Amino acid sequence: MILAGVDLLVTPGDLRVGVDVALEDGRVAAIAPAAASHPGGADVLDGRGLLAVPGLVNAHTHSPENPMRGLGDGLALEPWLARLMGESGPYSGEDHYWCALATAAELLLCGCTSVVDHVGMTPLRPEGFDGVMRAYRDAGIRGGMAPLFSDHDATADLARSLGVVGVDGPLIPQMAPALPTREAIALTDDAVARWHGAEGGRLHLLTGASGIQWASEELLVGMADLARRRGTTMQLHVLETRVQDAACRARFGGGSGVRVLSEWGVLGPEVSMAHGVWLDVDDLDLIAAAGGVVVHNPAANTRLRSGRARVRELLDRGVAVGVGTDGAASSDDQQMWFAMRLATLIHRGPDEEHVSSGDALAMATSLGARALGVDGLGTLAVGAPADIALLDRASFGLAGARDLEAALVLSETGGSVRHVVVAGELVVRDRVPVRFSLDDVHAAIAEQRERRLREPADPRLPETIARIEALRAALARTRA
Ligand SMILES: [Zn+2]
Repeated sequence: MILAGVDLLVTPGDLRVGVDVALEDGRVAAIAPAAASHPGGADVLDGRGLLAVPGLVNAHTHSPENPMRGLGDGLALEPWLARLMGESGPYSGEDHYWCALATAAELLLCGCTSVVDHVGMTPLRPEGFDGVMRAYRDAGIRGGMAPLFSDHDATADLARSLGVVGVDGPLIPQMAPALPTREAIALTDDAVARWHGAEGGRLHLLTGASGIQWASEELLVGMADLARRRGTTMQLHVLETRVQDAACRARFGGGSGVRVLSEWGVLGPEVSMAHGVWLDVDDLDLIAAAGGVVVHNPAANTRLRSGRARVRELLDRGVAVGVGTDGAASSDDQQMWFAMRLATLIHRGPDEEHVSSGDALAMATSLGARALGVDGLGTLAVGAPADIALLDRASFGLAGARDLEAALVLSETGGSVRHVVVAGELVVRDRVPVRFSLDDVHAAIAEQRERRLREPADPRLPETIARIEALRAALARTRA
């Protein structure tokens, strides 16, 4: 395919005006001044009036939250999570399929071409992996999923140590592991063998764990080793809230969760850590030294009152910081333009070195791409994967752009996205998905919403939330 006569943003700081971009074998094959005409029969997309930018990378989300939007507004993460797990009910393989397809649809339509989907399954089983991966195969997005599995709850240990009564198993009962850790790792290995690298390398099966405070050493080390052995990447949550940080320090004799990840050999360029809100200076240095990847989720961190990640300090240390939306019940959409804008706007206090719009653009493209470990992804240099968003320059966001890159981040909403290309294939044409019906997606999500609303919530939910609030209050007293 040839994108003819486009303005091409190869990477922030490198804009080529009026060029033809040839795409071959899923990659950018050549960039040349626009030709006056093209041979008959050539596959040409008229790109005049369009700005081609690297497709955005959503480096952290949870597709099963699609039918749970708006849940628990105003709650902090822990009680919100208890409600999510206590009110959502189970997911079949087919449910996972439609949730992932809805995620792909929302992302593709606004020019986001890659996703890392951190998927909790109830329980972890092959049909869950397959439902999600079939959706990303069918949608045409560059899709990766990582399993979200828990086998040890240090937040429950912390609650018991602070005198919270009635905590017998995990603080949130649904987090009790439904299968042994070695079986979870074996199931993941099996899914990696079936899916990782499929569709010409467009599909990724990552290893993963829920988070340090919810996982054993066996699980974390096992999943990191599996990622390295299989040539894939891994994702986990890291220190999203004060409760999680306190649980790790109580478990590890005062040391931080990140220090223990380092000691266990988990940290590395293959491992992306979502959130990283409660990192201390030592953690920042350890992550930088290990070449680790952090995924910033400004919408969810603000919505759930978790705090603000130390993004500027991470970037200054050379850490690859990506951007994620987080799940659709915590942020509450998959709008990467909004996430990218928040990633610069919330770091602008009067006395701080801010995160610039250019930083945010790099985070949402080439830096976030490290979570998938694909060379060149997130740029449009010759040889890079041909993942491209084509935006109308005649639009509110771009027509009046005095500074094009700043306007992309600060003014664009995704509403200007006209066409989207993934791995050289046109998957959105004139704002319509090419490979699937949006009506089917909306109908399937509405059906899930209604079915889940009809099911009674887990009867243990009120007591669970009461225990979580008792833990939060006890922690506040230790700080007073
Ligand atoms: Zn998350």
